[in-house]
Amino acid sequence: MDRTLRGAGVSHGVAIGAARHMGTAVLEPPARQITTDEIPREQQRARQASDAVAADLTARGNLAGGEAQGVLEAQAMMAQDPELLADVERRVAVGSTAERAVFDAFAAYRALLAGAGEYLAGRVADLDDVRNRMVARLLGVPMPGVPDSDEPFVLIARDLAPADTALLDPTLVLGFVTEEGGPTSHSAILARALGVPAVVALPGATRLPEGTVIGVDGSTGEVVVGPDAGERAELLRSAEERKAAVEAARGPGATSDGHKVPLLANVGGPGDVPAALEAGAEGVGLFRTEFLFLDDGGREPSVREQTAAYRQVLEAFPEGRVVVRVLDAGADKPLDFLTPGDEPNPALGVRGLRSLLSHPEVLRNQLLALAKAAEGLPVYLEVMAPMVADRADARAFAEVCREAGLLAKAGVMVELPSAALRARSVLQEVEFLSLGTNDLAQYTFAADRQLGSVSRFQDPWQPALLDLVALSAEAAAAEGKSCGVCGEAASDPMLACVLAGLGVTSLSMGASALPYVRARLAKHTLAQCERAAAAARATESAEEARTAARAVLSGE
Ligand code: PEP
Ligand code: MG
Repeated sequence: MDRTLRGAGVSHGVAIGAARHMGTAVLEPPARQITTDEIPREQQRARQASDAVAADLTARGNLAGGEAQGVLEAQAMMAQDPELLADVERRVAVGSTAERAVFDAFAAYRALLAGAGEYLAGRVADLDDVRNRMVARLLGVPMPGVPDSDEPFVLIARDLAPADTALLDPTLVLGFVTEEGGPTSHSAILARALGVPAVVALPGATRLPEGTVIGVDGSTGEVVVGPDAGERAELLRSAEERKAAVEAARGPGATSDGHKVPLLANVGGPGDVPAALEAGAEGVGLFRTEFLFLDDGGREPSVREQTAAYRQVLEAFPEGRVVVRVLDAGADKPLDFLTPGDEPNPALGVRGLRSLLSHPEVLRNQLLALAKAAEGLPVYLEVMAPMVADRADARAFAEVCREAGLLAKAGVMVELPSAALRARSVLQEVEFLSLGTNDLAQYTFAADRQLGSVSRFQDPWQPALLDLVALSAEAAAAEGKSCGVCGEAASDPMLACVLAGLGVTSLSMGASALPYVRARLAKHTLAQCERAAAAARATESAEEARTAARAVLSGE
């Protein structure tokens, strides 16, 4: 194995520590024939295991809150799925032990799910995790998951399941390294939220020997196996240097020659505001309002409740720009009252703006709440719609905003290639564009953003994605309107320079990335960013694009 490995750095900082692997071994219980007398007891054991695992997952969800809660609750429902449990009981009735019946019933269900299209196939990892938990409980062995350790360690995994990561102790986990996953995977999002360094998509990560000391650089994506004293010092020195540069850079986002690129924060609700202010965000570039709905058990919060939450965010940025995205439900964020339950392919179904146009009262309530929240505040409120496909979508959204009498600019997210390709026509209806590069990558490459096996397509350095960004930015410039980026692409400091070079007018990201982006942008002139952008677009792969931009930006 090479001593220096390279993956994608998704959470800044350096960690040096022993590699400890996530316990993912599949426990296959022996097949033993039970006697007729044992059947009732084994069936009862299976039911108890299902109840206990569901209760444990629900409790973990309650403790974790936020996005993780929804995922964990869905897993708790898998543990109690009536059809699965009926199958387990049937298998016990013909002579299986409880643990073997669980193992076999889940295997049958897994095969069904794995063959049922990419979206459901993405749930297989969650199902396996539930099976492992039930089997471990029945066998009386430790639960799979994060290793028990009193010493801090670097966690190694194929990818991380939300059930394991939601309750990680940040004082013990120095950093993450995963073999799969991309910048938008659970591992990456969690690492950034915990503020620990992380490298994802590292080939061979799961073959790193248990206990070997490794050095992880979450900025460059480099992992050094068994670093000697000199290499350790070098890793720490470059991390210190970056940290010092980050701390030295203050104020509004701009290139070294003063070209302004406002740096805004992505927030999911009032709870994210303190970190955004601390990082010096100039406003909010993406307020993901669906979390108010998801956190509320998937029901529609009243206008009064919505008004209160919106106002708290608006008040935090007096004179600042706050871009509120109207409810983006569906696909990976389904809401029972809005999302059709019978779509074979929810990512291509009625989601985002499509859901709202089929339930206009939900959109009207949201706009009403926003209007009330902004009353009397000196804030620049802007609203935007997710998943806009074409000019007709943009017109429909702008019309509802006008009818609601909202004194806010209306804009649209560019998340579908169709909207980027026809950005000028879309801009005839609205005032601004905001590029959602996470979904734009998903739909450009037909690659589910939740699926580890296709995560290489989630790399926002893909030249095809850069082309679509350039098209959108050029269209906005021609129309005299703005075009920001609010997808994860904006949080990669070097890519942020490339985006500025492509003509993007603002960058919005999770608060923890903001100081790094500010510092990097301040190191280069606009002309240098433009050269890096041209060099990246002239390549044929994400890897080459990264290398080409690095050559331009570090050769200066
Ligand atoms: C995106 O798709 O890039 C985006 C910002 O929206 P979300 O990640 O919430 O889908
Ligand atoms: Mg999106």
